[in-house]
Formats: sequence, C-alpha cells, structure tokens
Amino acid sequence: MPLKTVTVGNVQVTPLLDTPVLMNPQHFMPQHADQFLTDYGHMADSRGLFTMSITTFLVRSAGKTILIDTGLGNRRRPNFPPGRLDERMAEAGVSPEEIDLVVHTHLHIDHVGWNTVDDEAGIRRIFFPNAQFCIQQPEWDYWMQPERLAEPGNAHLVECVEPLKDTGRIRFFGGEGALDENLTFIATPGHTPGHVAVGIFSAGDKAVIIGDASHHPVQLDHPDWSPAFDTDPVQSAKTRDRLFDDAAADGRTWIAGHWEYPGMGRIVRIDGKRVFRAL
Ligand SMILES: [Zn+2]
Repeated sequence: MPLKTVTVGNVQVTPLLDTPVLMNPQHFMPQHADQFLTDYGHMADSRGLFTMSITTFLVRSAGKTILIDTGLGNRRRPNFPPGRLDERMAEAGVSPEEIDLVVHTHLHIDHVGWNTVDDEAGIRRIFFPNAQFCIQQPEWDYWMQPERLAEPGNAHLVECVEPLKDTGRIRFFGGEGALDENLTFIATPGHTPGHVAVGIFSAGDKAVIIGDASHHPVQLDHPDWSPAFDTDPVQSAKTRDRLFDDAAADGRTWIAGHWEYPGMGRIVRIDGKRVFRAL
C-alpha cells in the first residue's frame, strides 16, 4: 500500500504500519462482546475477529523528525506478530539514525517495541541511536515500579523502556504542554494513567493523534465500551467521548493508530450520530 502523507499546516504526518493484528471481542471487551458481534459482525471475518492496526506516525515538525510510538518491535512474542516498522521506515525514506524524537503516548507493549532490538548474540541496543524519548512522568512512575517490572506480562518494559534509564535521553513531560511550536500534548487519561494524545495546531490547521484513547470506530456509537486493559475504564470512556466531540466540533483531522490503517479521517455528525469519514 502506498504511503500516504497528510499535511497539517506546517507539519507532515506519515502513517507507518508496524503490523495488523486480529482482535477478538471476547478478550478485548468481554462485557460487550455479544452486542459487538451482533451489531457489527459485518466488519468481522468468518471467525468473528476484527482487524486492528498497529500504526506509528512519522511526523516532521519544526525541523525535527519525530516518531510517535514505536509499535510492537521485531521480537517473537506469544500472541503477537513481529512488527515491520523497520521496513516501513525504509519505504518512507527515513533511517533510524534520522529520528530526533520518539514520543510515547503511553508505555504499553505495542507502543514501545522498536525502542530496542537484540542482535543474534543477544546484545541489546537502542534502535534510534540519536533520538531523545519523550515520556510522560506519570506514565513512567506508574509502570516503572519494581513490582510492575517483575510481572511476566511486563517483559516489554524491561526490554524496551528500562534500557533508556540513565542514558540521559529521556525528556519527561507532565501530561499537558507544548512539545514544539506545532505539537501539544493533550492529557487523555484512562487507558493508562499518563496517557496523552498529540495535538497538531499549525497555521490554522488542526489534527489529533489519539494514541489509545480509542481502538475501534464502534466506540463512536459506544464510547463507554472500554477495553478490558484500560486501567480506568470509566475515565477512559469520558476521555474518549470528549475527544470524539472535540474532533466533530472543529473538524480536526483524526489520526488513530489502532483503527484500520491508515486510520486518518474526520469525525462528522450526521443526524446527531458521530460518523468517521476516512481521508
Ligand atoms: Zn495500543
């Protein structure tokens, strides 16, 4: 699929698909799985699985080359396919060395994966050798507690986040505030405690890279359908609803890494109902 770059004022955004994944509503949101399949089954495959994407975003802003989230990475892990962000970057004509900033919307496994790679001898290195890593302090504080690092399900933190510690390459942020003259963090807690969206406000144009504030367009109809792995499903529902409404109100470009690739479009209101119009 050809790479599609959108321009937002003085900013360029190119979606880079790490990998598609299949989502099973029975695992993803078990409380709503029956209705999910009944009402939206036409979007599922014959096994009742829905396609989600794991898309990262190459952003060029204020002279910097920025990567928003780093996908699953290339390790072999149970229940996850290995990602191919390295190939997508090559297609986009950008090398790992050229990334100035890596921005993490949050620290889940499918957003930090390419921070590090291991060679055949098991030697680990940071995949983006010249990048600084922008991380929200509340997110770091939540996930990097010793007892959380010790959980088997959090091996990705040990592999992909902890190696950044003491490198002098982390820039911590406080949940809101400007990253540069075009990009602004928008605190969007609920999926995780320090989760942020990235707002792009440039030369009168607007967009929002939503991180995991929403995983699937069915949430336009059901903002309260929070995934099982949201740390605060009540808060995440409020956050999601507000982001949808904000996007519908001013027509900002909607950029959603887990919606089917490239996941970019606009939220519009038709007869009072929120509807996604892909670009
Ligand atoms: Zn995610």
